[in-house]
Amino acid sequence: MADKYEDFKELDAENTDGKDYRIISNNRDSTKCVIAPHGGKIEKATSEIAKLVAGDAFGLYLFEGIKTKANIDLHITSTNFDEPKFDRFIKKHTVALGIHGRKDKAEVKGNCIEDKETIYLGGLNKNFVELIQKNLNERNFNTLSEGHLFLARRGENVCNRTDKQGAQIEIPLTLRENLLADERLMSDLCEALRMSLTEA
Ligand SMILES: [Zn+2]
Repeated sequence: MADKYEDFKELDAENTDGKDYRIISNNRDSTKCVIAPHGGKIEKATSEIAKLVAGDAFGLYLFEGIKTKANIDLHITSTNFDEPKFDRFIKKHTVALGIHGRKDKAEVKGNCIEDKETIYLGGLNKNFVELIQKNLNERNFNTLSEGHLFLARRGENVCNRTDKQGAQIEIPLTLRENLLADERLMSDLCEALRMSLTEA
């Protein structure tokens, strides 16, 4: 689905900071960071996950939809995302982890499938992607790092704009809802991601 707005300037012309969207940007003096550019009500649960992974240890950037409806209008695709605070934030970090939410329906190797469990991995920092995959698999999360449509292989992707580039995860809607409902499951996921960032 095409985005309503091509870039942040277009979005900001029709939406108000603090009423329609909200930005949280905290460097925490870390070289590593967690980002959710489609947070709040845009991609449910991605803000919550990013906050838990970052804790007090890693930089945190959230762009959150807080409209009463049609928050999907605030989705600016990761290669076009150019919110000015983000541009300043990302320059202070060398590795980034992007948290995203996908639909349960997906296209894998040309086939349309329904997959409510698998976390799709992408990003240009291959070692980091492999670390995330290992740490998630060890905690019984299904992952896929090839053949899906969220490989995030372009340098302009928000997760790849640091010196060492980065990784992103796309979590299906059903799994995100389960994570919000199950504290143990959520803490397993966040621990896997935190360990990966620490080791990256
Ligand atoms: Zn997203």
